[in-house]
Amino acid sequence: MTAQLPAKNAHALGDLHSLVGALAGIEAGLATLAVTPGQEVVGTAPPPDLAVKLAILARACAEPGRGLTPSLAPFAASGHDYPAIDRLLFPFATDARSVLEELADLDLLRRELHNRVHVCPRCAACQINFRETCPGCGGIDLAIERMLHHFACAYVGLEREFADGAELQCPKCRERLFQLGQDFERPHETYECRTCAALTETPIVGGQCLHCAHVFPAHGARLLDIHTYAPTALATRALELQRLTALQVADLLFDPDARLARLDYLVLEARREFTRLRRHPGALSAVRMRFQVGGEPFAFFRCASAREVHDFGRLLATKLRDLDLAAPTDPATLSLLLPETDAAGAAHVADRIGELCGGLALRSPEGHAVTVAFRQHTWAEAPADIEDSLQIVRGLD
Ligand SMILES: [Zn+2]
Ligand SMILES: [Zn+2]
Ligand SMILES: [Zn+2]
Repeated sequence: MTAQLPAKNAHALGDLHSLVGALAGIEAGLATLAVTPGQEVVGTAPPPDLAVKLAILARACAEPGRGLTPSLAPFAASGHDYPAIDRLLFPFATDARSVLEELADLDLLRRELHNRVHVCPRCAACQINFRETCPGCGGIDLAIERMLHHFACAYVGLEREFADGAELQCPKCRERLFQLGQDFERPHETYECRTCAALTETPIVGGQCLHCAHVFPAHGARLLDIHTYAPTALATRALELQRLTALQVADLLFDPDARLARLDYLVLEARREFTRLRRHPGALSAVRMRFQVGGEPFAFFRCASAREVHDFGRLLATKLRDLDLAAPTDPATLSLLLPETDAAGAAHVADRIGELCGGLALRSPEGHAVTVAFRQHTWAEAPADIEDSLQIVRGLD
């Protein structure tokens, strides 16, 4: 080829050689990043780090209406890709879907079914060729043939066996056939194998993977669900705290500054207080405080930002005494344990916290006013059934 090029192209040829060299380099680089469909990453590329995953969540949050929607991609193993995520993942040799699935497993993204594809049971690629095969010999050279049924002698055979020039003649009884519906009928079509000549009405549909050449019965193909991924409330919190785990309210509130405890700790303390009441009669109160919007529970601890929850916890601490404990029992409810406090004292605490919340003028994301409702319970002596009373402390009464 080079010999045919005129001399004036010699310079261009040098450029071409260096371009080919450069392309070979790129190709070698890409080979180390190659991902075989359904298999793990080839090579030793590091997993996408935290910053990339947070960037993916930020991207998901930036499109709240649609979430991260896949595009059709005929060359992708799953037939779909997420171009925006692929760009964020570059140069990590990880496919977008596996990272998105990982984030969904962490409850940071919510899956919505977008499509369902058949994939190879061996390599998980969706590039599959489905075709009819002969049940006898497995051959693929099947032809559809018409059948004839001669009423007089009941012979059923291929139409071409009846052909006699332009006429039809029964190959069994040699009688001529004239009238469709009177002399004969065409019952159905059949498949004829051109390899072994077998006739069948129900050929086997077989799959052939165009990636790994695996051949399998069609019913052996695996189904792969393709999802759209929408951010959850936890994703917002992950971005706020710049981490992917320990985002739940209970983890968030385990903070001495905020003076909010985990519920299991509060229940442990309550059990101790009940036992103490048995020996030293006194009073113990529990107050259940519920955030509400329009009379319905409002998930303040889920909707508020981490900062707002901390600020609330710090303010709440100013209204409690040293022995008092507060813990969220669910995203809308706070349980307060008030040792050595009678009913009047508990009502007083509830009043002060109510005033505090009123002053904060909390609003729901839709802009509705958030109110608080209290319910209190006081024990003047140890309860007969401690477990029953602990249910009250847990906010489950
Ligand atoms: Zn056959
Ligand atoms: Zn016949
Ligand atoms: Zn395959």
